[in-house]
Amino acid sequence: MQKSNNTEMVRRSLSAVWHPCSQMKHYETFPLIPIARGLGAWLYDFDGKRYLDAVSSWWVNLFGHSNPQINAALREQLEQLEHVMLAGFTHEPVIALSERLHELAPPGLGHCFYGSDGASATEIALKMSAHYWRNSGYADKTNFISLQNSYHGETLGALSVTDVALFRDAYGTLIRQQATVISPDDRLAEADETRETYALRCAHALELHLQQHHAQLAALIIEPLVQGAAGMAMYHPAYLTRARELCDQYGVHLIADEIAVGMGRTGTMFACEQANITPDFLLLSKGITGGYLPLSVVMTKDSIYQAFYADEMARGFLHSHSYTGNPLACRAALATLDIFKQDEVLAANRLKAACLNRIAEPLRAHPAVRNWRNTGMIWAFEVMTPYSDFAQRCFSLGLQHELLLRPMGNTVYFMPPYIITEAEMQLLVTRTLHIIQELT
Ligand SMILES: *Cc1c(COP(=O)(O)O)cnc(C)c1O
Repeated sequence: MQKSNNTEMVRRSLSAVWHPCSQMKHYETFPLIPIARGLGAWLYDFDGKRYLDAVSSWWVNLFGHSNPQINAALREQLEQLEHVMLAGFTHEPVIALSERLHELAPPGLGHCFYGSDGASATEIALKMSAHYWRNSGYADKTNFISLQNSYHGETLGALSVTDVALFRDAYGTLIRQQATVISPDDRLAEADETRETYALRCAHALELHLQQHHAQLAALIIEPLVQGAAGMAMYHPAYLTRARELCDQYGVHLIADEIAVGMGRTGTMFACEQANITPDFLLLSKGITGGYLPLSVVMTKDSIYQAFYADEMARGFLHSHSYTGNPLACRAALATLDIFKQDEVLAANRLKAACLNRIAEPLRAHPAVRNWRNTGMIWAFEVMTPYSDFAQRCFSLGLQHELLLRPMGNTVYFMPPYIITEAEMQLLVTRTLHIIQELT
């Protein structure tokens, strides 16, 4: 292979690749970072500079880049079966993964339907919910509700339940926009309210909405415990517990979008466990393959599955993707689950989180830092800054200090891979503090 350098890679990429979630013109001022290789929590560019991956490469990587165990599992799978269609065919990795997810998930979620990315999982859950109601004689139940500032993906169906104006506004006329209810985001609580009281006040608003609209509502879709794209908005589990009761009472499905928060990110394997609930649909993607390959899964219960089980083709769930249940992706997911078990990752993460919280005391105490918060392996805070382009500046300064940080507005967050070491956490905090100092 030809030896490349950063400059040449940037030039080639900007002329041929249309990058996601980007205004391409901004790359004139904030250059692209070509990445040559990754190892553990680090990414390396073509000039030999390194970056600590504090955002797990868009919230997907759990056990580091180039993880030897996942690499080995994939190599072995490559020699056996790279892909076969899942309609009319099956294979060991997809069966084993479905069985193991069933064992791990909240009780009752015994049926796994696969997609290739998070947005597809959202689409699948919305379609499955509405189709369930139609098959059950409630053809009017075709609407959905989500929380304010929710994010469930960017395809047209997923955008209809996504409340991020920047992603949605240009496509408003293409979307059947769904209603939202107020978010239990702790930051929105009144000064005299605890986070739990506020969560219950929000649940009451949900109750009023359900009372009025349940006859047309198929499902509530929600990001349990942390609304990621809303700026790592965290909330009390009492909201979820109450939402489960209300959905049962009013005959509305509860869709738990654990695409970002599942796979141990919030401290339990699934965020729903902290509210002691079983959703009607549980969505997983992002971390499920350890950040290796695109895969998503919608888990659901037998009562929903049975409503599709009939002689007529049209009652079945007619949805598919070319790569549904891809064997390589499923094998990466199985290797990921093996690591969780053998390394007792959830227990180890509790110690790591405590360690980072200890190390981060000076950052938390910085006068420009507001709303310091932590759930499991996610940390976030707002920065009081005079710069309106804080996110870009923080990103650029981060790179100069060997950190990959990707703030959302003036919210800085850490969502590191679980293999991050104490020394790496120290480096992350010290340098972030330095950057905050420079930008305030
Ligand atoms: C990332 C994300 C999605 C969309 O997943 P993609 O793979 O990017 O389509 C949906 N919901 C949540 C909560 C997410 O964080």
